[in-house]
Amino acid sequence: MSESLIQTSSLDKFYGKKQVLHQINVTIPKNKVTVLLGPSGSGKSTLIRTFNGLENFSSGEINIFGQTIEPRNNKQWKSIQTRIGMVFQSYDLFPNMTVMKNILLGPLKVQKRSREEVVEKAKKLLSEVGLSEYENAYPRQLSGGQKQRVAIVRALILNPELMLFDEVTASLDPEMVRGILDILKNLANKNLTMVIVTHEMNFARQVGNKVIFLENGRVVEQGDGATFFTHPTTKRAEAFLESMS
Ligand code: ADP
Ligand code: MG
Repeated sequence: MSESLIQTSSLDKFYGKKQVLHQINVTIPKNKVTVLLGPSGSGKSTLIRTFNGLENFSSGEINIFGQTIEPRNNKQWKSIQTRIGMVFQSYDLFPNMTVMKNILLGPLKVQKRSREEVVEKAKKLLSEVGLSEYENAYPRQLSGGQKQRVAIVRALILNPELMLFDEVTASLDPEMVRGILDILKNLANKNLTMVIVTHEMNFARQVGNKVIFLENGRVVEQGDGATFFTHPTTKRAEAFLESMS
């Protein structure tokens, strides 16, 4: 596969005495979509959160954007985090701010960009996700799907080199899911490097250039998406695909 943007070596993670990641060796290819699959509790969220320093790891190392990070090296994450966008299952918009304010906060306050430039970019992104009419709305006036779109725009406006998505459709009504997945598919077509945790298997099959399959905190299988979905090499992956179909 192509050049990798992230490479982990022998990553272990404990919560107290409980080991939740075991010797994780994965690579995240640049300009591709990597899908993280696995049963609930297999460590997907923990792993994706280690990719931007939201979660500490116990031993091993992560190489990201060419920098090698060892456990608990929080200083190094600061500058790396500015290059990564993340969207979670819960949208975490500021309830007392309009959609536009929510979106502008990062680029203005953190990145110190000019208001004119970021307002223009915000309007463009809002129109791309079908929310042009909502820039002055407050989060409580939006549906779950709309809030999730705002959360995606808020991450994208920072021009991230890597986007992490952790079950972004999991708390949405079924009729809202498609719209969000279409937005992610669009991003995939723009060659943005993405890591996506999802239970939407059709979507995963469509966008996943690479698949990493986790179980009990271990990588059971990783490789080319097309191969994974048609010829999984392990019984575990086969059983998982069966259970999801
Ligand atoms: P997934 O996202 O695949 O459902 P998680 O990464 O959330 O899995 O969880 C992996 C394991 O780590 C689970 O056994 C979970 O109970 C445990 N875990 C997750 N977060 C914490 C935490 N903050 N403290 C203790 N255990 C945790
Ligand atoms: Mg999770």
